[in-house]
Amino acid sequence: MKAKAKVISRFAPSPTGPLHLGHAYSALLAHDMARKAGGQFLLRIEDIDQSRARPHWEAQIYDDLRWLGITWDGPVMRQSERLNIYRETLDKLWQSGFLYSCTCTRRDIEEAVNAPQEGAAFGPDGLIYPGTCRLSGAPQPGQPLPDTPLRLNMLRAAGPCHFTELCKTPNGAQQITSEQMQRDVGDIVLARRDMGTSYHLSVVLDDAAQGITRVIRGADLFEATKIHVTLQNLLKLPTPSYCHHRLIRDDNGKRLAKRDDARAIAKYRQDGASPEDIRAMVRL
Ligand code: GLU
Repeated sequence: MKAKAKVISRFAPSPTGPLHLGHAYSALLAHDMARKAGGQFLLRIEDIDQSRARPHWEAQIYDDLRWLGITWDGPVMRQSERLNIYRETLDKLWQSGFLYSCTCTRRDIEEAVNAPQEGAAFGPDGLIYPGTCRLSGAPQPGQPLPDTPLRLNMLRAAGPCHFTELCKTPNGAQQITSEQMQRDVGDIVLARRDMGTSYHLSVVLDDAAQGITRVIRGADLFEATKIHVTLQNLLKLPTPSYCHHRLIRDDNGKRLAKRDDARAIAKYRQDGASPEDIRAMVRL
């Protein structure tokens, strides 16, 4: 019988604003699942967007998590310290012809998809790219990795793969086909101009580097998971199991966002709430 993988979960906030009730729910769920299973809970600071990341938000994250009673194992991983690792992987993908250089602006894409013969469709990263630069931006023999934005050639990269969903219904094995990825996702950006990497690439490499076996995050990332599993297959990295949990909403049913300062954990703390009150608010 195959041994069951040890539960290694993580919380991966971006230090671009205060943690709110939705973050607390995600972090507590991932923490509790790992602790109950006698596994590990790791922390990662997703600070590749240096134009928005701030040290005081990072400090506040540690403080709020400790206050919630969350302890993490091992050192904290910080994405800003791993930029060379992301570039190395991009270089390999570039040399193998899975990427192409593309400087199309959002406007260019809008104009191309609004052409009458093509229907505009949206994927997890916005308008699905019509492939304008797929040929012209492809690597020439021996050409080094350029500094331009880089797109993944989904036609070449995607293959059949699957992941296990533990929380969202319907759960169980989720099949991903290459046709689905081409049609519903398309050639996503793997290296952004401002960061030299992207959320999708970094999260996949970091989950693998941290040995994460269970990714617990909001249901809003379910479609992004298909991209992540596709990348794991392409890069020959293991696929963890996933729990996409319900989203915490405000009184009007809207998903909480970073700007919802009224729901910030820091605000509740100031108002005298206890960690148990926060657990009760998110029904944990
Ligand atoms: N940094 C992402 C966020 O704060 C985390 C996404 C993930 O858990 O993969 O939304």
